[in-house]
Formats: sequence, structure tokens, C-alpha cells
Amino acid sequence: MTEIAVTGAAGRMGREVLAAAADRDDIAVAFAVNRSPVAEPISGVDVDSTDDFADLLADHEPDVVVDFTGPESALRYADACADHGVALVTGTTGFDDDGLEALHAASESTAVLKASNFSRGVAALRLAVREATAALPDADIELTETHHNAKRDAPSGTAKTLLDDIEGVRNDLNERVHGREGDAPRSADEIGVHARRAGDIAGEHEVLLGGSNETLSLTHRAGDRSIFAEGALDAAAWLAGREPGWYDFFEVIDDA
Ligand code: NAD
Repeated sequence: MTEIAVTGAAGRMGREVLAAAADRDDIAVAFAVNRSPVAEPISGVDVDSTDDFADLLADHEPDVVVDFTGPESALRYADACADHGVALVTGTTGFDDDGLEALHAASESTAVLKASNFSRGVAALRLAVREATAALPDADIELTETHHNAKRDAPSGTAKTLLDDIEGVRNDLNERVHGREGDAPRSADEIGVHARRAGDIAGEHEVLLGGSNETLSLTHRAGDRSIFAEGALDAAAWLAGREPGWYDFFEVIDDA
């Protein structure tokens, strides 16, 4: 049994994590916190104030904190986890370079697993994109991501991960062009990146590889957010008890 604490409990993902945890017998929720007060329990769990986070960690000693919030708060939670030796699974996106560095610093004191996407389908998409990019070395590549209208960061963390994957294979592609307007001919060394925001879309990512007389399109669509919650809980169960360090969601999948 893995004991978790959930941050951002009243957010879209926090609610999904609590609902998924309630249905699993390998996960127990030690406590949950949210920035603003929550009167009613969520999936049977009382939600405390974020202000008490360090005290709650000390009192409950969970195995893992599962965090889907924002980059500033995630870093505060990471510091507290490092101080208390509690492992951290974070799906939060939108970290800048300093934020990523701070998260890595926390992993010197505790186990940290960060993933921009906890869907197994997206993990498969990443592998397929790397293969297709290698197989079509002259293709023009464009990436389009689509999310709900309340998403803050753009392009999505998953889009950035896919771009890193593509650039890891094609080192001639060294410019990310975010949308186009006016006189904007395409150059051979760019990847076009397009972010759409509409309605309540959980997340779509398409990588388009265009060559002469043929195109290949690789697309993932998240049906709902439960896939991210399940993946994060799988990661939490896997991470519990591990040594301090930086871990990857592919390691969780490979061990499944
Ligand atoms: P949301 O806005 O619905 O919820 C965010 C939660 O974090 C809220 O409870 C909010 O109160 C809390 N929060 C935000 N800033 C805070 C702060 N400064 N201090 C304390 N609490 C704070 O957002 P969401 O859709 O649940 O997404 C949360 C994060 O998870 C985003 O970064 C999103 O991109 C990411 N996400 C990742 C995955 C994945 O698989 N890795 C999937 C979906 C969303």
C-alpha cells in the first residue's frame, strides 16, 4: 500500500487523482491540500489548506506527494518534500529553466519523478515520433496541440517534450516557430508549433511529417483526464521507497 498526499486537490487533475485513488486498493490518501478552502470532502477526502503542508507532511509521513498544480507551488512542495525525505511525483508543467534546476536540486535529497504527460498512449506516441523522425530525415515537421480554454502554459509541456524528442533525432532542426503570420515562408531548419485552446478538451497532440508526395500524421487524443491520474498513481506506487534521484515515467512503464 502506497500512502500519498495530493496537492491542488480541488483542481481538475487533483480531483481526478483523488477519484482514481478511491478506486484503487494499492493507494491510500494520507491527506490532500488546496490553495483555497474546500468545504466538502472530495472523493471522501477532507481537503486542508496548503499553508499547513509542511506540518501535514511531518504528521502523516506519506510515501509520495502527487502534485498537479502550477510551477511556483510545485517548487514549494518539492522543497518541503526534500526537507522531509518524501518522494514527489509531479505532472505540473510550465517550469522555466530555473524551475527545472530547482526541481533537479530537490532530487538530490529525495526521489522525484516529473512527467509532462502520464498517459501511456503519449509514451507510445513519443517512441513512434522518434522512429518516424529518424525514418524520414528530410521531412518538414509541424506540431499542433489542443487543450481546454483554461490551460495556462503554451505550448503544452507534452508538446515541449515531443519537440525535445524530435530535436534529439534531427539536429538540423534548431528553430521552433510558434505560429505564423504575414510574410512567413518556412525554412528547412524550423519546426512549426501551434497551440489551440477551446472548450474542455483534455489534450490532443499531432506531429505532422511532410515530405514530397506523402505526409505522415501521428496523433494522440486523451479521452478524459483519468488516464493522467492513473499514470501518476502508477508512478507513485513505483516511486515509493526509491533512493533520492531523478526518475522517468518510461521507467515505470518498462517495469509494468
Ligand atoms: P487546475 O487549474 O484545474 O488546477 C490547479 C490546482 O493547483 C488548483 O487546485 C490550484 O488551486 C492549485 N494551484 C495553482 N497555483 C497554486 C499556487 N501558487 N499555490 C497553491 N496551489 C496552487 O489545473 P489542472 O488542469 O489540474 O492542471 C494542473 C497542472 O497539471 C498544469 O500544469 C497542467 O499542465 C498539468 N497537467 C499535467 C498532466 C500530465 O499528465 N503530466 C495532465 C494534465 C494536466
